[in-house]
Amino acid sequence: MIDQFGRSITYLRISVTDKCNLRCRYCMPEDGVCKKDHVDMLTEDEIIRAVEAAAQLGITKLRITGGEPLVKKNIVSICRRAAAVEGIREVCLTTNGLLLPQLAKPLKEAGVKRLNLSLDTLDPQKYAYITRIGALDDFRAGLDAAFEAGFEKIKINSVLIGGFNDDEIEAMAALTMEYPLDMRFIELMPMYDSGDFGADAYLPYSRVLEKLPQAVAVPKDGGVAKLYRLPGAKGNIGLISPISAHFCGECNRLRLTADGKLKPCLHSGDEYNIKGLDFEGMKQAMQDAIWNKPQWHGDLDALHRSQAGRNMNQIGG
Ligand code: SAM
Repeated sequence: MIDQFGRSITYLRISVTDKCNLRCRYCMPEDGVCKKDHVDMLTEDEIIRAVEAAAQLGITKLRITGGEPLVKKNIVSICRRAAAVEGIREVCLTTNGLLLPQLAKPLKEAGVKRLNLSLDTLDPQKYAYITRIGALDDFRAGLDAAFEAGFEKIKINSVLIGGFNDDEIEAMAALTMEYPLDMRFIELMPMYDSGDFGADAYLPYSRVLEKLPQAVAVPKDGGVAKLYRLPGAKGNIGLISPISAHFCGECNRLRLTADGKLKPCLHSGDEYNIKGLDFEGMKQAMQDAIWNKPQWHGDLDALHRSQAGRNMNQIGG
């Protein structure tokens, strides 16, 4: 599927739930999610039907996300069935990692190839603060379980927050010296009502490079991150810059929310319903969403909040 700006859309990110076992301050409100009726959410069969429709339209890569995808009871079954759909070459998953001790092996066996784990600090107290309810030791146990399970690739995503973790850039980058993982820094995005961070919190990716003068640029791996490597490292440093240097021109993504809305752009309020539709209806909705994908996401900064109309836990990141 090519959109009207010539971009080929091959990547579908599916949020399987908006519930989460953390409450990250930039992602969701403290009191959790606005409770939706169970009947309003996509069923497992509908998710798989959507994957089949998307695959027929040229989607080859899936990312399963949330909320926290691992709190979904049937997550292993969803991943197994999605990975088996003809045309799907790769199923990846984004998680906070806390439930990986129980689920890493079953997910690997189900066909999940790559994992992204979210971690914003190496300090236990700061971890408890930013997640509101999390314990860093549980993250570490999850990371260990992910390595033991033998995924093809493990990446850590860290949201860069001025005044919170910019003093940890070197320490987090040093994880690539210790482990065969990519460490990615993502610019904080001003979502709907996801915390009131001041203007100083919105740091450009260039701040990471200032702290890592020894990092050398390396070729991109097909994703949107600019890649660098520390001398002697086992993995790359990735820089994702939706704010200071947007990459909308190379965006190949379509998103599906847990309540069955296709979002052609993370920061647009445009949504196309597929809940309750049959296979052909889903395909048509996907074609409409892709054709109408906005050219770019518009200004985003402390003063210009995202127009998504949802917090990140209700979209999937
Ligand atoms: N619960 C899973 C996790 O923690 O990875 C998956 C869902 S979470 C919404 C996906 C990613 O979005 C996480 O890496 C998170 O840090 C990122 N994210 C959430 N809100 C964000 C924001 N306002 N700006 C930048 N990244 C954000």
